[in-house]
Amino acid sequence: MRIFVINSGSSSMKHTLFEMDQEQVLFSGEIERIGLEGSRHTFRTNSNPAQSKDLPVRDIGEALDEVFSTLLSQGPVSSLDEIPAVAHRIGHGGKYREAVRIDRDVIDEIRRMTPMIPLHHPAMIIGIEECVRRMPKAVHCAVFDTWFHWTIPDEAAIYGLPYHYFAERGYRRTGFHGNSHAYVSAKAAEYLDKPIERLKIITCHLGAGASLCAVDRGRSIDTTLGMTAVPGLIMGSRAGDVDTGLIPIIMKEDNLSPDRMIEMLFKQSGLIGISGVSRDFRDVDTAAQAGNLRAKLAVAAFCYQVKRAIGSMLMALGRCDALVFTGGIGQNSPTVRARVLDGTEDLGFRLDAKKNTQVSLTDTAPVADISAADSRTRILVVETFEELMMARQCLKVLEGTKQDRIEQQ
Ligand code: ADP
Repeated sequence: MRIFVINSGSSSMKHTLFEMDQEQVLFSGEIERIGLEGSRHTFRTNSNPAQSKDLPVRDIGEALDEVFSTLLSQGPVSSLDEIPAVAHRIGHGGKYREAVRIDRDVIDEIRRMTPMIPLHHPAMIIGIEECVRRMPKAVHCAVFDTWFHWTIPDEAAIYGLPYHYFAERGYRRTGFHGNSHAYVSAKAAEYLDKPIERLKIITCHLGAGASLCAVDRGRSIDTTLGMTAVPGLIMGSRAGDVDTGLIPIIMKEDNLSPDRMIEMLFKQSGLIGISGVSRDFRDVDTAAQAGNLRAKLAVAAFCYQVKRAIGSMLMALGRCDALVFTGGIGQNSPTVRARVLDGTEDLGFRLDAKKNTQVSLTDTAPVADISAADSRTRILVVETFEELMMARQCLKVLEGTKQDRIEQQ
């Protein structure tokens, strides 16, 4: 069974083709800077090393054309008809608790949830429509970032607003990055050679978007993101937690419309808002090291917020057997990891400074233990693999559909 996974971002598209019998990657890659100057397609097959092509890619349709023509020319399949299913990453599932086969109702629900994650959903919807047009015979599934967090208990999920927002509108902490938190916590358990049912794990997904999750015996019981993709940690361009009382005050003072405020919270805040330099962590860190004070403050605030959030998750779990760093920043920045854990030795987090700086994850070694021998908590760096989690979810939908058909006969 082959499954193609598509992860459409606001200006990028990641893609992976799996052979699910052995969970083998046949083809994978990413198109960056869609609709911008300097777009590039980087890809590799299971038999060839990474290659890249610089070419203009104006929109998601053109991105898919490029992906499919490269896929066919590279040889893992000779026709798109050999791919019976596609998994599309969707941020917020709304009423859907698990991955589903896409139909009109599903598209309507994804559209209804667009305000919760406005930078991502429009591109994701176009990604689905353009892909269905090019692969009309395939089964298309939506895999939601929110699925992993439905186990968060009401007391942790409810907001202190009038009750009907919770009961009738369904506004609760739904969280995001579910595929990543689920994958890296399972991978950590596998690495530690312990059943996940016995472990309490804190996962830190630190990328352009960032969130923490408290994973109690394999189930999410709390996370830092919410109904929207804004709260919790400072992110690349998203604000993270803000005094909610300030929002209407700023709107009144600066005469901002709701749409303008949304734009500020999602696009002009976080690392770029504080530093004025970039939404990309590396750029901000480079500026900080060159002495830019606002960049220094942004990096310090980011690390502090991760530290504080780990504290909350630790109390929610009551114990932490493993702390996992993942995502572009979590996997690649020893400085962030060291700053986050600085001064937490008495709480059980003791880093091995040398191991921390020598992490080098590969496909065959996707986990590194960076904890000191006497650390109460194992501190791990795990390469996330959201696409594999998505392919597994999609496979479950296909198997469920098959089962339904057998039962109906
Ligand atoms: P996305 O959410 O788009 O998948 P990623 O998980 O790829 O994001 O993370 C992107 C972030 O990771 C960017 O802010 C980037 O600067 C940061 N990053 C990537 N490599 C490094 C590195 N070597 N050191 C620090 N940060 C890094």
